[in-house]
Amino acid sequence: MKLSELLKSKKTFSFEVFPPKADKPLEPLSETLSRLYGFEPDFISITYGAGGTNKGRSVDVCGLVMKAGLTAMPHFTCIGNTRGKIEEYMADYISLGIENILLLRGDLPEGWSGTRGDFTHASMLIEYFKERHPGISLGAAAYPEVHIESESVETDVAYLKMKQDMGADFFLTQLCHDADAYARFIERIRRAGVTIPVIVGLMPILSAPGTIRMSLSNGCSIPSGLASIIGRYEDVPEDFLKAGKDFTIRLIERYIAAGIDGLHLYTLNKYQDIADIVGGVDMTRFK
Ligand code: FAD
Repeated sequence: MKLSELLKSKKTFSFEVFPPKADKPLEPLSETLSRLYGFEPDFISITYGAGGTNKGRSVDVCGLVMKAGLTAMPHFTCIGNTRGKIEEYMADYISLGIENILLLRGDLPEGWSGTRGDFTHASMLIEYFKERHPGISLGAAAYPEVHIESESVETDVAYLKMKQDMGADFFLTQLCHDADAYARFIERIRRAGVTIPVIVGLMPILSAPGTIRMSLSNGCSIPSGLASIIGRYEDVPEDFLKAGKDFTIRLIERYIAAGIDGLHLYTLNKYQDIADIVGGVDMTRFK
């Protein structure tokens, strides 16, 4: 199912998983996926290894999801990708029946000053796909609290609008622990002429080191409620986990109340924590 079509008729609910390393078996993730299917997600996105690593595993995981009759959306980056390499990948994806793809620049590996591929920015990759693969529905990344390399809020919005103008059908956001910051972002981009749906990407709060690392590396703020949880429970992982899940549930409810186009949970390949979170949210308000 093309997400560009689905988003016209409903709010989507979805999960992100990451492929195991090349020398690790697929079975544990396959098992987790089978259990996640029970939540009837509209799609499952599969990350693309940072620095362009682990690409084959992304195809394998997409295959698992598609064979189960669900919609898989691979992430795909500019890192190291020439037009020729892109077409090799697309041949695999198209043979699996993939109809959606999330197009990104990718984080530059340490010591690299460019992507070492044919495209330097996501908007260029989007433009290429729109022309070369017009039948695929295209997603792009958005940053409610501004991309960490952006010179200013204004340029961030301008480049976001460029992704829409080049052919992106929807945006999927970076983690943002602050629903008010998200509301201000939506106001800003709608004023700038961004009209396509925005799916909220949500990182569950499960561990203090992970939360701090991900927030800092992406330039995301840590609101006072979350800072208190880190301060109180940082050294007691079980208590942190409980408080973090409660925080995540409340945050999802605030997002739902704000009126979002879709909700995408970064599962970190965990089932039980995600099940606890989804089970704690009144999803009927979201349908
Ligand atoms: P771009 O849109 O190219 O933007 C990158 C920077 O360049 C921004 O600061 C932007 O303001 C600026 N910019 C954009 N266009 C131009 C231009 N024309 N001229 C000058 N400056 C410009 N990374 C992975 O490696 N694998 C993944 O699977 C993955 N999944 C992700 C999923 C989501 C939902 C998100 C939000 C991010 C994901 N990332 C992933 C991380 C992403 O690759 C990084 O955030 C990366 O640094 C930027 O990617 P982008 O597509 O936003 O790049």
